[in-house]
Amino acid sequence: MGKENTFLSIDLGGTKLLVGEVNSKGEVLNYKRYETGYINQTAAVAIIKKSVEDYIKNEGWAADSRPLSMGVGLIGRVDNASGIWLQMDPKRNRAIPLAQELSETFDMPCYIDNDVKSAARAEKTWGHGSTSKDFIYINIGTGIASGFVINGSLVRGSHFNAGETGHTNVGIDIGIKCGCGRDNCVELIASGMGFDRSARVLKRQFESRLYIPLDENLKVDVKEIYALNQENDPLCTVLVENAAKGIAGLIMNLVRVSDPDTVILGGGIVSSGFMLPKIQGYLNPTTMRFVTNGVVLTKLNPDFIGLIGAAAVAMNK
Ligand SMILES: [Zn+2]
Repeated sequence: MGKENTFLSIDLGGTKLLVGEVNSKGEVLNYKRYETGYINQTAAVAIIKKSVEDYIKNEGWAADSRPLSMGVGLIGRVDNASGIWLQMDPKRNRAIPLAQELSETFDMPCYIDNDVKSAARAEKTWGHGSTSKDFIYINIGTGIASGFVINGSLVRGSHFNAGETGHTNVGIDIGIKCGCGRDNCVELIASGMGFDRSARVLKRQFESRLYIPLDENLKVDVKEIYALNQENDPLCTVLVENAAKGIAGLIMNLVRVSDPDTVILGGGIVSSGFMLPKIQGYLNPTTMRFVTNGVVLTKLNPDFIGLIGAAAVAMNK
């Protein structure tokens, strides 16, 4: 192990935390996974501190020297410039000066950002966005959100809430109500959560061999939907086509807003590549004519995009 600059990366997800080290090429050198369950911000801060302490004690630094700085990717609204974690969601909202707290605890510069904005920063530093000044990164996982880079800058908005594109209508009406107050948001059609919600609504109209758990806390398996789609299962065919059409609709709406030359897709729903040709089949060539680099899958490792994103945050470029 030679001398190399590393960054301590922390990726807080819905039910898990990853702590790891990433080098300046965006390569993950080591990491450890911690289960968190559903927690609020106060609990999250304690778990982050405890887990980082455990990582340092039991894993040790991967390179010869300490990381230059630390970066944290978080759920919800984050004031990156002030280092304040404003909220996880409307029910879990307590402003915490997290960057300062972690910096003092671990005696290291610390920067924080929203998880999807972190991933967009990773794309800008190491991914398909590294050669573009105008791109959109769309994360399609449990939910849907986007990071817009316009004229070389990441868009944050007046309350750090820019990019919540999952809550937009894409012209598909299956009569499903969203918690945001509107109907048929694309997140309820094309995300992991959306496949589950749509399956429950549409199972009355279409036959299926898909296992839909009676307990709504348990979710349908999207991989099973993809497999059954290939066997022409009626419900799974509709679910996949609606999702592809929905994501294509979202992409075309966003392309009209910011005129990107590249659209990058990431997240568990698209990372296998199964959905991409189906999405591309619904894109209109006229609408897409200035997206010269096309709609592409992230080339960053989808299992570690959160960790790599947190390293991009730690670099604070
Ligand atoms: Zn909504």
